[in-house]
Amino acid sequence: MHTIIGTWKMSYPALQEANALLAAGAPADEAVVEAIVRVEDNPNYTSVGYGGLPNRDGHVTLDAAFMDGRTLRCGAVICVEDVRNPIRAARLLCGRPENCVLAGRGAEQFARHAGLPMRDMRTEAGMRRWRERVSGLETPLDAYRGHDTVCVLAVDGSGRMAAGTSTSGLFMKEAGRVGDTPLIGSGFYCDMRYGAAAATGMGEDIMRGCLSYEIVSQMRRGASPQDACEEAVRMLAEHMQGLGETGDNISVIALSPDGRCGAATTLATFPFAVGRPASTTLYAAYGDRSPVRAVAPDEVEGEC
Ligand code: ASP
Repeated sequence: MHTIIGTWKMSYPALQEANALLAAGAPADEAVVEAIVRVEDNPNYTSVGYGGLPNRDGHVTLDAAFMDGRTLRCGAVICVEDVRNPIRAARLLCGRPENCVLAGRGAEQFARHAGLPMRDMRTEAGMRRWRERVSGLETPLDAYRGHDTVCVLAVDGSGRMAAGTSTSGLFMKEAGRVGDTPLIGSGFYCDMRYGAAAATGMGEDIMRGCLSYEIVSQMRRGASPQDACEEAVRMLAEHMQGLGETGDNISVIALSPDGRCGAATTLATFPFAVGRPASTTLYAAYGDRSPVRAVAPDEVEGEC
C-alpha cells in the first residue's frame, strides 16, 4: 500500500495529485518530485520556489534536495537563483555517484545543461515585501509560520521510498546562508529499510540535532514514526532550553516502510498532509503533544 506525507497546508493539494499518481502505479520518486514541483510553481507560497521571499540583498536563493531510499544516494542544489524547479535538479543529481551536491553558479550551470527550465524567480509581491523590510534589518531571522519548507516523503506500492525538500529559506537571510533543507541527515533522510524523515523550521536549530537522521535511527531501533518524531524533537528542544534558548520552531514528519506516519513540533500547531489509497487528509500535530488529529483546511493557518 502506498503512502505520501508532506509538510504544511501548502502540500495538501499537491499531495492529492501525487497520491493519484501513486494510485496509478507511479514510483515514489516521481510522486515526491511532482508534488514538490507543484508547490514550487505556485507564487502564493512565499517560502518555496517561484515567489519565494528574497535574502537581504534582494535575491531569491533556493535550496532543494532529493534522496533515494534504496541506494541512499542523494542530490542537492544550494543557493540557486533562476532554476524554475530546484527539486528537478536535485533529483537529477541524485543519480550521480559524485558531484551530487552543487551550490550557486555550478548548480545553475548543471540545471541549464540538463535542459531544465530557467526563470526569474522573483515576483513583484515578493520584491515589494523585501523593499518594505529593507529598512528594518535588525529584526531577527524567523522561520515564518505557515509557509516554510515543503518536505515530501513517499513509499510506493513496491516498497520503494524517496524524500524531497525545497525552500527559499528564511526571509532576509544573509547572502550565502544555508539552512537544514539541502543537508542530508538534517533536513531529510531516507532509508527504505527503516523509514524516512524530514524537517522544517529554524534550520540553524534543526542542524544541531541532525534531526532527520536521528528520527530514522530511532526507527531502525524499533520506534514507531510518531514516537521517533516526538522523542527527537523533545531531546533537541529540551537541550536547547537547558542552554537558555527557545528551540521553538522545529517541526518534523516521518514515514515507515509499511506506511505509518509521524509528526511532531515545538510550534503551537503544525499542519501536514497524508495521502493514502483511500484519500488525502490534512492533519495537525501540536506543540503541547496532544494527539495528532485530522483538521479541516480552514482550521489551520496558511495558503492551500
Ligand atoms: N528550514 C528552512 C531553513 O532554515 C526554513 C523552514 O523550513 O522554515 O532554511
